[in-house]
Amino acid sequence: MPVLVMKFGGTSVATLDRIRRAAKRVGVEVSRGYDVIVIVSAMAGETNKLVGFVQDTSPLFDAREYDAVVSSGENVTAGLMALTLQEMDIPARSWQGWQVPLRTTSAHSQARIEEIPTDNITAKFGEGMKVAVVAGFQGVSPEGRITTLGRGGSDTTAVAFAAAFGAERCDIYTDVDGVYTTDPRICEKARKLDRIAFEEMLELASLGAKVLQTRSVELAMRYKVKLRVLSSLSEQTDGSGTIVCDEEDIMESNVVAGVAHSRDEAKMTLVSVEDRPGIASSIFTPLAEAGVNVDMIVQNISEDGRTDMTFSCPTDQVKRAEKALNDARTAGHMTFTDIKADTGVAKVSVVGIGMRSHAGVAAKMFRVLAQEGINIKVITTSEIKISVLIDRKYMELAVQALHDAFELEKAG
Ligand code: ADP
Ligand code: ASP
Ligand code: MG
Repeated sequence: MPVLVMKFGGTSVATLDRIRRAAKRVGVEVSRGYDVIVIVSAMAGETNKLVGFVQDTSPLFDAREYDAVVSSGENVTAGLMALTLQEMDIPARSWQGWQVPLRTTSAHSQARIEEIPTDNITAKFGEGMKVAVVAGFQGVSPEGRITTLGRGGSDTTAVAFAAAFGAERCDIYTDVDGVYTTDPRICEKARKLDRIAFEEMLELASLGAKVLQTRSVELAMRYKVKLRVLSSLSEQTDGSGTIVCDEEDIMESNVVAGVAHSRDEAKMTLVSVEDRPGIASSIFTPLAEAGVNVDMIVQNISEDGRTDMTFSCPTDQVKRAEKALNDARTAGHMTFTDIKADTGVAKVSVVGIGMRSHAGVAAKMFRVLAQEGINIKVITTSEIKISVLIDRKYMELAVQALHDAFELEKAG
């Protein structure tokens, strides 16, 4: 039987009624002749609540216990989805990550999938089971501890299962009806894309468009998984949703494909570090060892042999970063006079493959922000994206102004 992977995100399983609606969609695919692997997220809000419990209990928590706690939301929905399907007379059972077993690295809270053996689930399909419901976001480390795959990780579970089982398609059901030119919740002119290239989706996701977790797009690209994003809340037609595909399979193209934003950014400045060979390494090595995800980096000009070093990282890693840097100073690896943390910033980025062959996108972006009176604090660019760090209070305005200026409401 052909295999189909269907993933339901938090809003799509937020209540028992929503779980029933999702189960009905699964029933339709079963009646079309598929063996279905359903990947479920925790009910909407559950993971945030669990993360809050961990942080309130232990600010610099042991990541192994964080995973033990925050993975639990998915266990509930996996069981409830299996029960709902059984009530509909569809043979189904649930699997937690360790039961598959979905093997990951030991990088707790942001583990990577290493292997998904298919024999257990395939054997059950062989015995007449129609649906395997798998708890998303979680796996098991080589040490036998529960791991999680980073926030939004159920998308990655879904794509990894689709790759492992050679699924015909991986359908990601969420609370919007596809991938848009920008987050439709902050820009009402956002336009749904019928198709988006893997590379653009990868950039948008890594720059904050949380509709797909970055790693899920990487895996889909690498293993040629047919990936579709669609709504679990509205009616479907065959052309529903957005297909994430190769660049060659797309006819329309704007120079800028989309605008992404991330409100979860902090800007940290180390004041007066020595300007000498090896200083960057003595700052960023302890940060990396502490699991801090550094994004943008700027080094100021030097005065009297000392300089300021500024970098950005996720807001919830600020305490960890401060501790790592203070420890490195105490150990005598470097000196600085102060650490300044600005947690009121956001990152806004424009993304598009067309930038490879069109000059002037950065200049236009900076002009638009200047016209809105928005000060840029840090800039980074790559071949197909430009990102700026700005005050968070201007984030929505910046996204809307850029969406207008690059005319993203019109198809290219
Ligand atoms: P799920 O719980 O189903 O995984 P998420 O909340 O993780 O859903 O992702 C869906 C959300 O992603 C949407 O509600 C939307 O606000 C946000 N989003 C951000 N950027 C985009 C974009 N470019 N296109 C569509 N949705 C986006
Ligand atoms: N429940 C997890 C989260 O909220 C994983 C997911 O939904 O993809 O991050
Ligand atoms: Mg998600």
